[in-house]
Amino acid sequence: MQILKTPVIVSLLFLITTFACSNKTTNTMQYKNFTFSPFGENTFVLYDETNEAVIIDPGNFHPNENELLDEFIEEHNLKPVQILATHNHLDHLFGAKYVADKYSIGLACHKDDLFWINEFMNTAKRYGLEEAQNPPQPEKYFQHGDIFKFGNTELEIIHVPGHSQGGVAFYYKPSGLLFCGDILFQGSVGRSDFPGGNHEQLIGGIKEKLLTLPDPTIVFSGHGPSSTIGAEKRNNPFLR
Ligand SMILES: [Zn+2]
Ligand SMILES: [Zn+2]
Repeated sequence: MQILKTPVIVSLLFLITTFACSNKTTNTMQYKNFTFSPFGENTFVLYDETNEAVIIDPGNFHPNENELLDEFIEEHNLKPVQILATHNHLDHLFGAKYVADKYSIGLACHKDDLFWINEFMNTAKRYGLEEAQNPPQPEKYFQHGDIFKFGNTELEIIHVPGHSQGGVAFYYKPSGLLFCGDILFQGSVGRSDFPGGNHEQLIGGIKEKLLTLPDPTIVFSGHGPSSTIGAEKRNNPFLR
């Protein structure tokens, strides 16, 4: 018995060690989700072992939401390097000016959503939110198929117009994570009754560019809970 036991333990240890190491080298990007503003908007901070970070859709609106975001960045000793916008609807950019000033970083988005930045204050006034802060003009534009790099992390840009013309999703392939703004939700899809909206275009784009990702891909939406590509393929009534 003694002779048999040792090799078993050794090989088990070997398996555990191998697994732990491969995990470390491939899945190092981490994320933190905040839900901000009266719109219940999901903001994500993505960061990796270099401590560089990006802020996807900074929707922080109230002073206490600015504090929550700052505390997280400080506690984890992160260095934000870019604001990434899935699209430029106001609820996704409420905090853009605040984080741009605080961390001296610029905004990157798809060019076809520039309209919404220029309309930001008019839209805010229509919602009775005159205290909203105008976001900075973009410093960078990305297109479908581009790779955005920060730290050791690469995000693929997937352009899916139809909720807004410049709507994009950020895909992190190594862990199968998709940050898709208001393109796709658990059991639903984005509205298309705003300027630049087009329902058929949106559904076509989701089917062609998102539902073709692996089923276990985790979908993080701009509002509400997360889902997976597989679950949306099976259950989403808009994608039948
Ligand atoms: Zn939207
Ligand atoms: Zn939204």
